[in-house]
Amino acid sequence: MNKPLLEAKNLSKIYTSKRGLFAKPTEVKAVDAVSLSIQKGKTLGIVGESGSGKSTTGRLLLGLERPSTGDVRFDDEVLPPARTNEWRALRKRMQLVYQDPLAALDRRLTIATQIEEPLLIHGIGDKESRTARVKELMQSVGLMPHHAARFPHELSGGQRQRVVIARAIACNPELLVCDEAVSALDVSIQAQVVNLLRDLQEKNGIAMVFISHDLKVVRNISDRVAVMYLGRIVEEAPSDVIFQAPQHPYTQALVSSIPVPGTLLSNRIILQGEPPNPAARPSGCAFHPRCRFASERCRTDVPETLHTGKEHSVACHLYDKGQTSHLYDGVSQPVALAG
Ligand code: SF4
Repeated sequence: MNKPLLEAKNLSKIYTSKRGLFAKPTEVKAVDAVSLSIQKGKTLGIVGESGSGKSTTGRLLLGLERPSTGDVRFDDEVLPPARTNEWRALRKRMQLVYQDPLAALDRRLTIATQIEEPLLIHGIGDKESRTARVKELMQSVGLMPHHAARFPHELSGGQRQRVVIARAIACNPELLVCDEAVSALDVSIQAQVVNLLRDLQEKNGIAMVFISHDLKVVRNISDRVAVMYLGRIVEEAPSDVIFQAPQHPYTQALVSSIPVPGTLLSNRIILQGEPPNPAARPSGCAFHPRCRFASERCRTDVPETLHTGKEHSVACHLYDKGQTSHLYDGVSQPVALAG
């Protein structure tokens, strides 16, 4: 396999919180021993419920947060500390697309000014070449020339997200981290923006980390998918494998909730309860209070990540003894574990 563009090893992020002046500080592990890699021109989807650590992982990958343990390598170099000159220079090569385009844009500046901004910050080109680049970028994301003089509030949600994407690709980045980038958009606009990202990726060879709670969208755009639960990656595999033959009981429940045209959702696996509070992490496998296969061992032992197939890894005791038969029989057809 080629060298990855981005590689994270054993990343953890611990926050300390204190409830009240005399209370003891408690540690919250937002991300726990996450290792992943992304190849040039490929997309890694990261899915999970809210509070699973997806966004924190995205910020760690960009160096916006300092990991408590582990490191991130971009193009074989360890990420320099945030806000240093070396880090700023690297940021040109790795960009973030935010969830809320209105919050990401400055309401007082025109669209053209905002798309030009990253070029100015990184000292790219003169006024004339920057103006030409802004025109080119607007065209590539499907904005019309008359949008250049408009302000963010004069555009639709989809158009605003196109502006955010134009800004993000202005300096020709090699990596885009899209954090819930289409979640705030209508379904039809979501499809347009996802297609736009795919076209840009194909044309420019950009690698993407696509973070979302929406499995349908992740399925459409990702080459590989990592499933997170309470800060850990519990399963990772090529996208087709995750959606056709998920192995982890949590992934099975997520996949079973995707509506399939022409089928009933009667086979849906209903997850009991809410995701636990990261400050009061369950012992053993953190998923055990909600898992239909939980055994005594799951309550005490943290499962290791096991390789159960080609480029497929899963953290679940069900696979400890080399058991690799799928616990999920095709789309929306979960079957019980034998024995
Ligand atoms: Fe369920 Fe146990 Fe596997 Fe955790 S380790 S997912 S509780 S079977």
